[in-house]
Amino acid sequence: MLVGGERIDTGDWLEVVSPYSGEVVGRVGKAGAAETGRAIDAASAALTAPLPAHRRAELLTGVASLLAERQDEAARLICAEAGKPLKAARIEAARAVSTFTFAAVAARTLTGETVPMDASAAGEGKVAFTLRVPVGVVGAISPFNFPLNLVAHKVAPAIAAGCPVVLKPASATPLSAFFLAGLVEEAGAPPGWLNVVAGSAREIGDALVEDERVRVITFTGSGDVGWALAARAPRKRVKLELGNATPVIVDDDADAAAAAAKLAPNAYSFAGQSCISVQRVYVVGDAYDLFVDGLVTATEALRVGDPADESTDVGPVIDAQARERILAWIAESGGTVLTGGDTTTDGLIRPTVIAAPDRQSQVECDEVFGPVCTVTQVASLDEAIERANATRYGLQTAIFTESVRSALVAATRLEFGGVLVNEAPTFRADQMPYGGVKASGNTKEGPAWAVRELTEERLVVLPI
Ligand code: NAP
Repeated sequence: MLVGGERIDTGDWLEVVSPYSGEVVGRVGKAGAAETGRAIDAASAALTAPLPAHRRAELLTGVASLLAERQDEAARLICAEAGKPLKAARIEAARAVSTFTFAAVAARTLTGETVPMDASAAGEGKVAFTLRVPVGVVGAISPFNFPLNLVAHKVAPAIAAGCPVVLKPASATPLSAFFLAGLVEEAGAPPGWLNVVAGSAREIGDALVEDERVRVITFTGSGDVGWALAARAPRKRVKLELGNATPVIVDDDADAAAAAAKLAPNAYSFAGQSCISVQRVYVVGDAYDLFVDGLVTATEALRVGDPADESTDVGPVIDAQARERILAWIAESGGTVLTGGDTTTDGLIRPTVIAAPDRQSQVECDEVFGPVCTVTQVASLDEAIERANATRYGLQTAIFTESVRSALVAATRLEFGGVLVNEAPTFRADQMPYGGVKASGNTKEGPAWAVRELTEERLVVLPI
C-alpha cells in the first residue's frame, strides 16, 4: 500500500485475478483498520502544508502528461484486471488524461462569490465575499468498472480543491489505482497527498467513517453500500455516485435505424458494466419493428471474446457470481429473448436482447450490470416517459427524436440527473456535471463541480 509516500508491506496480500482467464495478474498489500489510520495520519499531516493553487494545477497537469505518455500501459492494466476490452480500456485511459486536465483548470479557477451587502440596510457600509477553502481529508472509495478514470474523478478534483486523499480502490481492480498513484508521486506530489489502501472493505470503510479527521467520503459504487455509508456518517459529507437502470426513449419520429446502431454498442460495451449502460428501451408506435431489426443485427455483429484481442467488443463480466445472477435474471424476465441469452464456449454471456419483459421483472426494475438490453413497444411519448421514470434510479437517460418539442418535453419530465438527445445515455465527457437523483446518488462529479463539493465557503465581511 502507499501511505505517506512510503510503500508498506504487511506481509498479507490481495491477489488480482483476470476475469477472463482466471490467472493471477498482480497482487497488492492488504490493508486493515490500522493501516487506514496511518493513511489518515499522513493525509492530515499533508493538510498542514497546503499547496497553493498554481502548484496544485501544475501537479495535475504533470499527471495528465505522464498518463498521456503511458496510456497504452494503463489500458493494458485495465484490460488485465477488469477484463475490459482493450478498445474500451484505451478510451478510459484517454478520458483519465482529460479528467486530470480539467481538474488543473478547476484548481486555477476556483473562486468564491461577492455578497451584495448594500442590498439590505443591515449590510450598508460593508463589503463581503466568500473564500473557498479545502474541506479537509477526503476518503475516496471507488468501484471495479472504471478502475482508472473513476479513481481519477476522486483524486484529481480533491487535489484541485487542496484536499489530501485516502483512497480505497475496489478489491477486484486495485492495480490501476496504484499505477496512477505512482504517476501522482512522479509528478511531484508531496508525501501524504495521495494514500492508497486496498483490502477489507468493511474495515477500511469503518475506519474512514469513524475517524473525525476524514471530512468527506466520496463513494462510487452500488446503492446498498453507498446509502449505508451515508447513514453511518451523518456528520460527514458523504458524496454518492450510484447505479441506474438506464432507460432510452425512441420516439415515433426518430431515425430508428440510426438509434439502433448507436445504442447496441452502448448496451454491451464492457459487457454492460457501466452505470449508464443502455438497459431499457421504450419505442413509440410504428418505429418498433425497424428499431428491433436494427438492434438485433447490430448486437449480433459485436465480437465477443478475449478482452486483450484488439477486435473484441464484449468480454467477460467481473466474476462467476455476477454471471450466474445475470443469466438467472434473463431466464426470469418473462419476455422473449431475441438474441443471446446464453454463453459462449469460453463462458461469456452473449449480448442479449429481450423483448417486452414483465414490468416487475428484475431486468426491468433493477440494475442488470451485464450485457442485457430490453425493448418494449409503447403507444405514446407520455407512456414512454412514464415507463422510463418508473424506477427508483435517476442517473442518466436519453431520447431519440426529430422533434425539438418532444426533446424538451422529455428533458423537463424525465427525472434523471442528465437527459441526452439523439445520443446514447452512456455518453460522458469528463468535464460534464455527472450524477444522479433519487436512489442514484446525491452529488455531481466532473472536476468543476466536484471541487465545489470538496471545499467550504468561508464568509469574510469588512467595513468600507
Ligand atoms: P460495490 O460493490 O458497491 O463496491 C464499490 C466500492 O465499495 C468497492 O471499493 C468496495 O470494496 C467498496 N465497499 C464494499 N462494501 C463496503 C463497505 N461496507 N464499506 C465501505 N466500502 C465498501 O460496487 P461495484 O460492484 O464495485 O461497482 C458497481 C456499482 O457501481 C454499480 O451499481 C454501478 O452502477 C455503480 N457505479 C456508479 C457510477 C456513477 O458514477 N454513478 C460509476 C460506476 C459505477 P470491495 O471491492 O473491497 O468490496
